[in-house]
Amino acid sequence: MHELFILGGEILKTLKSNGFEGYFVGGCVRDYYMGRTVNDVDITTNALPDQIESLFPQTIDVGKEHGTIIVRISGVSFEVTTYRTEEGYSDFRRPDRVSFTNRLYTDLERRDFTMNAMAMDEDFKILDPYSGKADIADGIIRTVGCPRERFGEDALRMLRAARFSSQLQFDVETATQDAMTESAKYLEHVAVERTVAELVKLYGGKDNLKAKHVLVKTGITAHLPFFKHVCETSFLKTRPESLLEEIALQIWLDEDLYDALNTLKLSNEMKNEINQILKLSEDAAHEDYLMLAYSFSDRILSVASSMMGTNPFFSSSLKVQNIAAAIGVKSDLPIHSQKDIAIDGKQLMAYFNLPGGKWIRTIMEALEEEILCGNLKNDKYEIMKWMDAHVEIETGHI
Ligand code: ATP
Ligand code: MG
Repeated sequence: MHELFILGGEILKTLKSNGFEGYFVGGCVRDYYMGRTVNDVDITTNALPDQIESLFPQTIDVGKEHGTIIVRISGVSFEVTTYRTEEGYSDFRRPDRVSFTNRLYTDLERRDFTMNAMAMDEDFKILDPYSGKADIADGIIRTVGCPRERFGEDALRMLRAARFSSQLQFDVETATQDAMTESAKYLEHVAVERTVAELVKLYGGKDNLKAKHVLVKTGITAHLPFFKHVCETSFLKTRPESLLEEIALQIWLDEDLYDALNTLKLSNEMKNEINQILKLSEDAAHEDYLMLAYSFSDRILSVASSMMGTNPFFSSSLKVQNIAAAIGVKSDLPIHSQKDIAIDGKQLMAYFNLPGGKWIRTIMEALEEEILCGNLKNDKYEIMKWMDAHVEIETGHI
């Protein structure tokens, strides 16, 4: 677990031996202190971007104007950012200017929450000017400085507070939460992509119900795309395990919400998955479990099953049992798509000595069904025998 800090420590040492300061900072210090897994380690320094580049052989410029350079060591990337301040948030979402500073504490001051405003040196000594450690010990999310000002600067911080309450199971400190209630409306200015990225993390956290209560209590839900149309009662009653599940579930409970889906600007992949989950939820009422297992991916089956399982409106319904049975047989299916059938269109054309045409699809679909139901073995020789007995072709007709 300390491997990343040891590698990153090399960067701090290089900075120091060249007369600069350098510290681990932000989420990695918080997670280290809490004993949580650290996935990426950020570094803050008084060296300017050009100086950072000149000190390390492998660097990538990912935002020099904001002070960030990626330094690569032994194949691992570290974001190294010059100490900076941010000024003039005229649009509630991003600073008009960033300027570099040579004081660590000035850099820590711009950070959102006390637990995220700690720095740590290569000997694991933590600098904690805003009492982040104490707040962590109390399980509290508190802004650095006046919460109303901080949310006015960047409204996304309110969603970050909610998602940390889910990930860390922390409570939002009273004044911070009151300011969220007052400033919730500024979330309308935040780019929907940033909102969705936070919501994905919120739902992926340990206790998303805790975060959902924060969103409702502060009135934030009323200012989020899609969620502003969701019924509060069903929002708090359900326990989906991902954003995807939540969205599908809410649409399932209220079809009118489908129209609001586009306002979330989701990726095509996510939209597709939502459509698939909704289709499966329909099909489960009339298709048999073999067909469900064959037609839907493992992922869709398991998300739909979880969606129904975590929703009190569905408990013990036939659909739930049908999907559970489909999951049970999924891995034992003789084929998973038409491509798995031991004979293909070309071979059919050769076998019947006929040119291609609609008849191929008809035969493939018949084979698919027979093999799936277990009436026919997926074996080329068996398939030919079956065709001899069941298929009559007269000049292109079956
Ligand atoms: P995660 O574990 O999700 O990466 P994190 O705290 O590291 O959580 P990042 O988005 O990686 O979050 O940001 C790194 C650090 O940058 C934060 O810990 C915080 O100090 C600062 N930061 C990030 N976003 C903001 C913001 N909107 N306002 C102020 N400071 C921020
Ligand atoms: Mg991070």
